Amino acid sequence: MKKIGEAILKHERFLVTSHVEPDGDAVGSVLGMWHALTALGKEVVACLADPVPLIYRFLPGSREVRNEIPLDFTPDVLIVLDCSELDRAGKIIDGIDLGSVLVINIDHHDSNTGFGGLSLVRENAATGELVYLLLREMGIPLTEALGKCLYTAILTDTGGFRYRNTTRRSLQIAAEIVGLGINPGEIAERACESYPLERFQILGKALRNLRVSCGGKVADFFVTQKMFNGSDVSPSIVEGFVNYPREINGVLVSVFIREKAEGRYRVSLRSKGDADVATVAMAFGGGGHRNAAGCVVEGELETVRKRVLNRVCEVIEKGQC
Ligand code: 5GP
Ligand code: MN
Repeated sequence: MKKIGEAILKHERFLVTSHVEPDGDAVGSVLGMWHALTALGKEVVACLADPVPLIYRFLPGSREVRNEIPLDFTPDVLIVLDCSELDRAGKIIDGIDLGSVLVINIDHHDSNTGFGGLSLVRENAATGELVYLLLREMGIPLTEALGKCLYTAILTDTGGFRYRNTTRRSLQIAAEIVGLGINPGEIAERACESYPLERFQILGKALRNLRVSCGGKVADFFVTQKMFNGSDVSPSIVEGFVNYPREINGVLVSVFIREKAEGRYRVSLRSKGDADVATVAMAFGGGGHRNAAGCVVEGELETVRKRVLNRVCEVIEKGQC
């Protein structure tokens, strides 16, 4: 952490990025870092391969996030947040000469490949928490705007301070941020209770195909492009759908399948307790954490479903769950 702090102070031009289809932790961490570096007088560009989901556009600085690296901008440091591997940042990486930048990797995945010249990887913490600890260690003045971004990162990554990555430390950091003057109830309303009606119309359709298997321990459901009247299934409209079946008593693993294109499905997996869904995702070329993982599987919907569910049930029966 000390080395990363020193490197940040020493350099001038920063590109800050995170993973494709960014979630609250990705957006909040990128913006938190953007605010801090801007306050230090650095030249900073925040850049994500996909747009900031509407629900996070209340965050200060969200309009500054670009979709492409400006042509006249050559960073000397690339800060990659919440990515287990560099490729998770998508097309942003293609526009960078990796031989001439210092890559700083700040992440919370057990499967992190350790890429980059400097890395800060800790499991069981939101990425936003790690950014906060780094900035606090560096003695950077923490503003309300920066606090809003990092609070949102931690709030969303811990499922509203409910998941097992909710720790004494995450709650303490959240309390410190509240001390900066932010209003936690207001942020929760914006980040968790401001979805468009369309989300619930789609959820209604999707829940009609909810199925429970593996002796009641697994629940799965899906959305197809047809449910969106043939248009692309917007990832941000269905973000977090996978969490709903976790709320069913006895369900250990929840699976949500979204049709990305014909014959191409994004599979999201969530689990309770010791159930390790990262191993399931990795078997299909994806990755993630023990309790939250994902992958892309190709094939016909029913086949994809069966292949994934068989694997999940196998893991449960082997006692790995
Ligand atoms: P989600 O279900 O929200 O898409 O993904 C849950 C978590 O699984 C993400 O935070 C990320 O850590 C991981 N994940 C999802 N998809 C992939 C993937 O294709 N590759 C890798 N390495 N990790 C993924
Ligand atoms: Mn993330």
